[in-house]
Amino acid sequence: MRPEELLRRYLQQRREAGETELILDRLSVDEVLRIVGAFGRGRAEVAPQPDRDALPVSIPSISDSAPASIAAIRPDTTVPAAESAIDGWRVVLRGPAAIPPAVAPPAPTASPEERLLGEIREEIRSCTRCPLYATATNPVPGEGSSTGKLVCVGEAPGASEDQTGRPFVGQAGQLLTKILAAINLSREEVFIVNVLKHRPPGNRNPLPEEVEACRPYLTRQLEVIKPKVIVALGTFAAQTLLETKLPIGKLRGQVHEYLGIPVVVTYHPAALLRNSAWKRPTWEDVQLARRILDSSAA
Ligand code: SF4
Repeated sequence: MRPEELLRRYLQQRREAGETELILDRLSVDEVLRIVGAFGRGRAEVAPQPDRDALPVSIPSISDSAPASIAAIRPDTTVPAAESAIDGWRVVLRGPAAIPPAVAPPAPTASPEERLLGEIREEIRSCTRCPLYATATNPVPGEGSSTGKLVCVGEAPGASEDQTGRPFVGQAGQLLTKILAAINLSREEVFIVNVLKHRPPGNRNPLPEEVEACRPYLTRQLEVIKPKVIVALGTFAAQTLLETKLPIGKLRGQVHEYLGIPVVVTYHPAALLRNSAWKRPTWEDVQLARRILDSSAA
C-alpha cells in the first residue's frame, strides 16, 4: 500500500477516535510535502523559495475541502517547526534535525544481515496487518547487532518506546542495560526486540490475533540474526515464543527452544523495578544464558 494511502487511513482513524491534533515526526520536509500533496491528488502547491527554512506551502484538506496553509517548516529547530489547521486538525510538523530517526537507514556498506533487517524494518513501518499501527505513534522494530549472539525479546512497546521508536528505553531499559552488563554484554552487542512492533493502546495486553499478525516479523528477524540464545523477558514474551500458558515460575530455570534456538526465560525488567526479590532469580537466568553463549563459542 502506498504511504500516502496509509497516512490518509491513519488520519481518518485518528479522527474517528476523536483526536484533533496531529504530530508528524521523522519525516523530512520533502517527504511531508510529497505526502500531504498527495491528499489533494496533485493539487498541493509549493511556492518557490530560496530558503527552505521558511517554506510556505498550501496543503489540500484530507477531505478535499478548502486548503489550509502551513506558515513555515524549519528542519533545524528543536521546537515544533510548523503548526496549522487542516480541516479541523492542528498539525505540527517537526523537521528531521529536531527528531532524528531512531534507527539509521542501512549504510551503503551494510552487511547482508543489516540489509535484511533494514528491509524488515521498512515493512514494519508500513504494516497494517493489525489495527495497532493506527493508534501507535511510532513502530518499534527492534535494534542492535545484526549478528548478535544474544537476542532479548520483550512483549510490546510501552509509552516511552512508542514515543521514541526504540525498544527498552526508560527505567526498564536502563535496568536491562545493567543486566546485560552483568554478563559482560553491551546493548550494542545484542539485538533487542519485542513480539509486537506497535504499542497496544493504554498498554493493554496484546490480543492473540495481533500476536499472530506480528509474529512473522520476529521470526524473520531471528532467522537473519541467528543468535546463539534468546532471552525471553517476562511472561508474555515467554508464553508467546514457547506457545504455552505455563506461568513464568514454571518456565524459568530451563532451556527451551524456539526455531531451534535455545531460549532462557526470565522476568521483565519492568517487573524487577516493582519487585526487587526477583533480581536474584533474574541474575541466575542471565548466567544460564551466558553459559549457553560460552559453550556455543567453545
Ligand atoms: S503490531 Fe505488528 S502486525 Fe500489527 S501493525 Fe504493527 S507491525 Fe503490523
